[in-house]
Amino acid sequence: MFQKVLIANRGEIALRVIRACREMGIASVAVHSTADADAMHVRMADEAICIGPAPGPKSYLNVAAIISAAEITGADAIHPGYGFLSENEGFAQALEDHGITFIGPTAEHIRVMGDKITAKDTMKELGVPCVPGSDGGVPDVEAALKVGEEAGYPVIVKATAGGGGRGMKVARSAEELEIAFRTARSEAKNAFGNDEVYIEKYLTTPRHIEIQVFGDGKGNAVHLGERDCSLQRRHQKVFEEAPGPAISPEERAAIGKTCAEAVAKINYIGAGTIEFLYEKGEFYFIEMNTRLQVEHPVTEAIFGVDLVREQIRVAEGKPLSFSQDDLEINGHAIEVRINAETFPDFAPRPGKITQYHAPGGLGVRMDSALYAGYSIPPHYDSLIGKLIVHGRDRPEALARLNRALGELIVDGVETTVPLFHALLAEDDVHSGDYTIHWLETWLERLQTG
Ligand code: ADP
Repeated sequence: MFQKVLIANRGEIALRVIRACREMGIASVAVHSTADADAMHVRMADEAICIGPAPGPKSYLNVAAIISAAEITGADAIHPGYGFLSENEGFAQALEDHGITFIGPTAEHIRVMGDKITAKDTMKELGVPCVPGSDGGVPDVEAALKVGEEAGYPVIVKATAGGGGRGMKVARSAEELEIAFRTARSEAKNAFGNDEVYIEKYLTTPRHIEIQVFGDGKGNAVHLGERDCSLQRRHQKVFEEAPGPAISPEERAAIGKTCAEAVAKINYIGAGTIEFLYEKGEFYFIEMNTRLQVEHPVTEAIFGVDLVREQIRVAEGKPLSFSQDDLEINGHAIEVRINAETFPDFAPRPGKITQYHAPGGLGVRMDSALYAGYSIPPHYDSLIGKLIVHGRDRPEALARLNRALGELIVDGVETTVPLFHALLAEDDVHSGDYTIHWLETWLERLQTG
């Protein structure tokens, strides 16, 4: 049993973890940069400690400062949230070396899934269906062209160390592939310090479907169905829902079982998400995230479980509090990511919040660290809140989303709320009929009038 958990993160996800700790009777420690001294997570935690100046690498990514903070405050475990150090194998290993529990998978699992080629090979071996493409890394242009010819165009060149939608280039012909291969390599070298790339067939009309899995580290694992995150801008999710409007109960059961069995076989511990592209009834693995996802609340809503609580439980060596048979879907949930950005051009707009009012009522959850008088620092990402709605079915969830967006007041900065009002006016959003390319095409149409 943990007495005290340190949260190596900020913003809404730090609050999310503090809330789970409080319900479990565990004390919480917030860490913060100098820019975040007045942040809500600092106010809400039982203790807070400054770990460095504003830039991420000097504070929220500063492993030595975070471990010192855990030692000074006597924390037994660290929850990394998402982003920052959540998928950093060196951090997980350093904690292990210091006798502090990392609330997440082992350093080895993070390493295997963090390298996209190793991840794909591992998943293939575990019986998970993958996108056809190169067998591992592609060393040179000649090899790339050979893959292109075999797979058929279009193809996508991806950085093995890539993440966050970066390091990907689509090629529609051999000529384009030559250029794409060279630019992807040099961009990957600059962005990730690793220029290895691989090639996949580029699917033109897929949906993004991801399966939530959970393991206890002792060979038991369950799945919690799928989330559909097809509405994306620049490969970044903006609107997520569960269950997926295009997935049948039979498909869910089959792919869920494949995923749960795969992670059980490797003794996976904690929360994980196996991401797929889904096209014409087939699932194609693209990557596994070895952490809690931003969009985890939609899964929590439909299954009525607290995923952070489960992460903490399995990290303590306890079993999961539910079995596969206990997990039944109840209704439909949607999350929208609200950013401090302009619409429709998505320019970041940090600044001072003059008024804030969160929506409420039946089936509404607002995860946000905002408050009136708070100044959003310019140093971090622009997500300022997640609005999650739950209804008995999809139409009810959409109506509730519309109602809740209307109640939300964020004054002082521009936000992406108008994006969601505009989306809710679209027939395709109501019918659920879209692919991962729908949103970008729609935005282009909006901008050109
Ligand atoms: P990241 O780790 O950067 O998020 P992913 O491999 O998860 O990268 O891919 C992110 C997004 O890129 C996917 O959700 C999808 O929109 C697009 N994508 C990736 N691979 C393919 C592919 N083979 N065909 C079509 N789109 C793809």
